[in-house]
Amino acid sequence: GVPANPLAKEHVETQVKEGYFPFSESEKAESTLSIIVVGASGDLARKKIFPALFALFYEDRLPKNFTIFGYARSIMNDEELRNMICKTLTCRIDKRENCNDKMDQFLQRCFYHSGQYSSEEHFLELDDKLKEKEAGRLSNRLFYLSVPPNVFLDVVRCARRRASSEHGWTRVIVEKPFGRDSDSSGKLTRGLKQYLTEDQIFRIDHCLGEEFVENLMVLRFSNLVFEPLWSRNYIRNVQLIFSEDFGTEGRGRYFDKYGILRDIMQNHLLQILALFTMETPVSLDAEDIRNEKVKVLRSMRPIQLEDVVVGQYKGSNEGNTTYPAYTDDPNVPNNSLTPTFAATTLFINNARWDGVPFLMIAGKALQSKRAEIRVQFRHVPGNLYNRKFGTDLDKATNELVLRAQPDEAIYLKINNKVPGLGMRLDRGDLNLLYKARYPREIPDAYERLLVDAIEGERRLFIRSDELDAAWAVFTPLLKEMEEKKVVPELYPYGSSGPVGVHYLAAKHNVRWG
Ligand code: NDP
Repeated sequence: GVPANPLAKEHVETQVKEGYFPFSESEKAESTLSIIVVGASGDLARKKIFPALFALFYEDRLPKNFTIFGYARSIMNDEELRNMICKTLTCRIDKRENCNDKMDQFLQRCFYHSGQYSSEEHFLELDDKLKEKEAGRLSNRLFYLSVPPNVFLDVVRCARRRASSEHGWTRVIVEKPFGRDSDSSGKLTRGLKQYLTEDQIFRIDHCLGEEFVENLMVLRFSNLVFEPLWSRNYIRNVQLIFSEDFGTEGRGRYFDKYGILRDIMQNHLLQILALFTMETPVSLDAEDIRNEKVKVLRSMRPIQLEDVVVGQYKGSNEGNTTYPAYTDDPNVPNNSLTPTFAATTLFINNARWDGVPFLMIAGKALQSKRAEIRVQFRHVPGNLYNRKFGTDLDKATNELVLRAQPDEAIYLKINNKVPGLGMRLDRGDLNLLYKARYPREIPDAYERLLVDAIEGERRLFIRSDELDAAWAVFTPLLKEMEEKKVVPELYPYGSSGPVGVHYLAAKHNVRWG
């Protein structure tokens, strides 16, 4: 039989609280950190996690005594893992001074253990190896679940029972998808909580680690000029746009199970929207911020089918180049109804946002790569200069654009007099272009999130009640779409998406395009 958990529940709950351990400051300074990348042979580990860990090591942001263990079923030894990391690693540090020396030092800290995800015995072997490196010091362990969701619970069970830290914290980073609707997400949460406390679970939504998203709160709450305007009184509509200029390319099997609504909207865009619309938190403490996010998410009206346009890309030709249709992907069924594009309008039933449409747009294989928030303000009442704009008053409204891609920038469109005799008005931008103002490179989102998980900063991770509230906004729509087998509108690869979006925007009086 399975032996009892080595850690009593009360112990787990208290172990994460700072200062609990009866260790001296010097013991704490000598503490070790083991980062276990579960699914180390996979795409995400190679593309994001190892490069982020290396960048942190290079920048001296990892604790002094750290060890990285890759864990997966693939048979590899330490050297082979190191080769894999070294060969495939491309990150912002690549061409920096001493990069090769630093890489050698980094690789000496990387080890590999091959095992099954459901084998407690294999995790016990891992535990032995971890203990060897920890050498009896105060030891903390961070598991990164970079595996498909069907093995999340196995890993958590085995890690908890056989490879938890005995004298330090044990934290688990969980990657999306967190279920596919309210029921499956609830089931996953209950499953995780059989083995972990909420404090130990770090649900990662990498978009929350993006510079642009971090800056949203700074912009809102540290500038007097924005917050007083941040409501239905002055804002006419808000657009959240995320487009990619490539298709599913190799991820068709995964994508077809989820579709764009689950892959981008229910998580990334909704998280950004929550930060954009929440009330001022009591403090910058993670729980205060997450409390406000939950409140506003719970005020969102579940999205109605009539406020949704879905699309799927079809093949197209440009010159001599042929671009594939979504269904050309060998892992996607020919009759797939999975949307690769969606536009939805969402409303928030609270005093601040009543009646304001939030237009969210996300799509693959579109003409450009774009990630931005556009805030359109109302007309100036009784504007003296209205007639200068002719009949197209919309063009005269102020617009604030927060752009993460292509070039990170914040700009405000204002009306300005063209210098000279006479009275001609012009639309100009007050423009904060990041690359001009902050020439330093911006760290990858995974770097920030890993540092936060190591430091126990939970602000950028998703709490389970937030997740429940986010699923409640989308689940009725997703169910209805599946029941009614809603057929997506086809749009050519590389175009601006389905025509239907223009009707949806017009229906809610949103200037778009
Ligand atoms: P992979 O499909 O590459 O899987 C990671 C590893 O898990 C594989 O190397 C494999 O290791 C093991 N694995 C794969 N399929 C199975 C299976 N059916 N049963 C058991 N083990 C399996 O995934 P990614 O690395 O792309 O992603 C990891 C996690 O991160 C997933 O949850 C994904 O949804 C999420 N994610 C990924 C992103 C990306 O860009 N790739 C972006 C955002 C989230 P082995 O066979 O050696 O055990």
